[in-house]
Amino acid sequence: MRVLTGITPSGTLHIGNYFGAMRPAIELQAGGDAYYFIADYHSLTVITDPAERRGYTQGIALDWLACGLDPAKSVFWRQSDIPEVCELTWLIGSLTPMGLLERAHSYKDKLAKGIAPNFGLFAYPVLMAADILLYDTNVVPVGKDQKQHLEMTRDIAIKFNLTYGEGTFVVPEERISESVAVIPGLDGQKMSKSYGNTIEIFGDEKVLRKKIMGIVMDSRTPQEPKPDADKNLAIQLLRFFAQADVAADYESRLRAGGLGYGDLKKTLFEHYWNFFAPYRARRAELVANPDYVEKVLHDGAERARAVAAKTMARARQACGLR
Ligand code: ATP
Ligand code: MG
Repeated sequence: MRVLTGITPSGTLHIGNYFGAMRPAIELQAGGDAYYFIADYHSLTVITDPAERRGYTQGIALDWLACGLDPAKSVFWRQSDIPEVCELTWLIGSLTPMGLLERAHSYKDKLAKGIAPNFGLFAYPVLMAADILLYDTNVVPVGKDQKQHLEMTRDIAIKFNLTYGEGTFVVPEERISESVAVIPGLDGQKMSKSYGNTIEIFGDEKVLRKKIMGIVMDSRTPQEPKPDADKNLAIQLLRFFAQADVAADYESRLRAGGLGYGDLKKTLFEHYWNFFAPYRARRAELVANPDYVEKVLHDGAERARAVAAKTMARARQACGLR
């Protein structure tokens, strides 16, 4: 069973990326056929500063390795080291109906947020389908925001196979864990690198404390009972970092009245900060060893390319380019 997932270097990684994609992926690498990549081609649709792109790419490599990606078990590479993915994008894009892409929620959400659309942003689901199909992927662990894109990938694979020959592409399946499907951001909406509502996995302690202490709550006094305690953002986030009984205890104290929002946010910060402490230490070691990180990505690209070359040969043959 081949597992694949990717994260775009369009910003600094946040706890939504961690729980939605990285942790499930890291758990699955024990199976021994894990393919994880840094989606730098995808970042071209949102970032135009080269230094920024390089910085985020480097940061994501460090984050993945710090959080437990093991290069002995997983293939880990930079998307743009395998330019065949762009060729495959054209092959499958030429069979992708406009209407399918026009219905993409993520595209529509980004338009609604005022992000200026370009061809790349519109074609994002096709490049993503190529990412997945190029490596004969069976399973893709992602957050719920990617569900529709996965369905599109399946549609595209099935259509290509029907048009040009069964067996050209493996038709993949999504893997979405309901409990971590959508991690809410500081504003209560989906946490996203591009929405400015993130809690980063790594970063400056003071800045992160300030972010968490700055979560806006309502104006009810600490003493007031809060029957909607389960919907409180700090409680929702605390559930990811604290033991279940600890989070449940805070929730019932908030519900009963007597627990102030300031104290609750302080608790949230402490649990969050302790949760990532071992990964922070590992990341500091990696920062001091950039050659190692570069070598991991280089070796990963070689292994990924071997698979990509075979799929490309099959796809070119199937559609008559060869
Ligand atoms: P962007 O704003 O650039 O789209 P993003 O924060 O949505 O960035 P992506 O790189 O698009 O991050 O997604 C990487 C992975 O993280 C995907 O599998 C996605 O489903 C998952 N993910 C992103 N945000 C969340 C979230 N809030 N909750 C759960 N999973 C998430
Ligand atoms: Mg996204």
